[in-house]
Amino acid sequence: AHEGILRRQSARESAARTYARALPIVPVRARGLTIEGADGRRYLDCLSGAGTLALGHNHPVVLEAIRKVLDSGAPLHVLDLATPVKDAFVTELFHTLPRGLADHARVQFCGPAGTDAVEAALKLVRTATGRTGLLAFTGAYHGMTAGALEASGDASDVRVARLPYPQDYRCPFGVGGPRGAELAAHWTESVLDDPKSGVRHPAGMILEPVQGEGGVIPAPDEWMRRMRTITSARSIPLIADEVQTGVGRTGAFWAVEHSGITPDVMVLSKAIGGSLPLAVVVYRDDLDVWEPGAHAGTFRGNQLAMAAGTATLAYVRENHLAERAATLGSRMITQLRSLAGEFPCIGDVRGRGLMIGLEFVDAEGDCAGRRVRPDRPVDGEPLNRGTTPAAVPDSRAGSPRPADPELAAAVQRECLRRGLIVEVGGRHASVVRLLPPLTISDEQAAAVLDRLADAVETAAR
Ligand code: PMP
Repeated sequence: AHEGILRRQSARESAARTYARALPIVPVRARGLTIEGADGRRYLDCLSGAGTLALGHNHPVVLEAIRKVLDSGAPLHVLDLATPVKDAFVTELFHTLPRGLADHARVQFCGPAGTDAVEAALKLVRTATGRTGLLAFTGAYHGMTAGALEASGDASDVRVARLPYPQDYRCPFGVGGPRGAELAAHWTESVLDDPKSGVRHPAGMILEPVQGEGGVIPAPDEWMRRMRTITSARSIPLIADEVQTGVGRTGAFWAVEHSGITPDVMVLSKAIGGSLPLAVVVYRDDLDVWEPGAHAGTFRGNQLAMAAGTATLAYVRENHLAERAATLGSRMITQLRSLAGEFPCIGDVRGRGLMIGLEFVDAEGDCAGRRVRPDRPVDGEPLNRGTTPAAVPDSRAGSPRPADPELAAAVQRECLRRGLIVEVGGRHASVVRLLPPLTISDEQAAAVLDRLADAVETAAR
């Protein structure tokens, strides 16, 4: 069955399919961290549905919540009508939200994917402000629909200013650390101050507190606070895309809590549906200027997903799984850094909580002389104030070593051979990503690291 299913699907499915190319497995059963394939092989799943499965596969509380709805005779599809299931979900969601937002928030069900919620958020801030421009960041990923794409990666759109996202390892300014983050913040201000930038009065700023698809790049807390200060001072709604970072993943229930900022809009999906599709935008109530029907849709709030989501949010909260992600994640990162000490091809190990990335580099490569420097010393003075930077510098230029996507792909293959599923991502497809469920045990984490180390050893040979 295994081979036949793989063959038929690769013959008939769109060339756009992604994960199935790198992971030729046919999952038939799953529980917690473990997936079993049609060929009888078992895998430790550190992809977790691209960071969706906070509680792993088929967690009993999630299954129980879904069964309860199925057995109750409740309707499974009711558009956006009020239901007890929805009421329970919204109550639990508001219980977890950062207090500064929860006290004055509205929730809008979008659906069913993260990109739909991004779409709604962009439309919302444009409607509320009457403006069109957007501030977004290099390396960002917000989804694949047209609006979300505008704000993602290196897509270019006249209405979107692409600003440097701070990064230690491949600092766009070649300096790294707090100074690099400071320069990135200055750059943002200089664009907003420039009369010719075209985005002096944007409709909003959208950011990920930790870039996930961009290669697991956590934003420094201080930079997050600077973005909040800059946007507040200019009445620009700040949208935090917590599609991937939410629900305990980074070691706080919501990743914005690390910096203590309160965004005006939060975009949530993935884990909030407890493994079923669900996406919402939560925003300050004074932004709620929609006319009824201004952003409608048939599938806004699947009842089963809401029930699974309520169970997931409550379980993460009651069992302090965010704290668990913080301690286990930092231990895993420490262990991976010592692995990087043995293998020069691991250029960087970074992450927050259980969102971890290893960047593979060409250990032989020499990038000396390719570092970029800021145009002039900055010492409290904004970079390029008054002139919009022509282009954000290529973040690759600040790297000590070139990214090695082939090696990352080889590590992923070797991991799979050892029964470990990992994701590869990042701006240069050179980052092996670990997104295990927050329920992963110490023993399982040790097994993951053992298999990964073994895979690196083989791939790097
Ligand atoms: N925003 C972020 C931060 C994401 O990581 C993703 C998905 N990886 C999305 C938006 C889009 O979500 P979806 O794939 O469900 O459309």
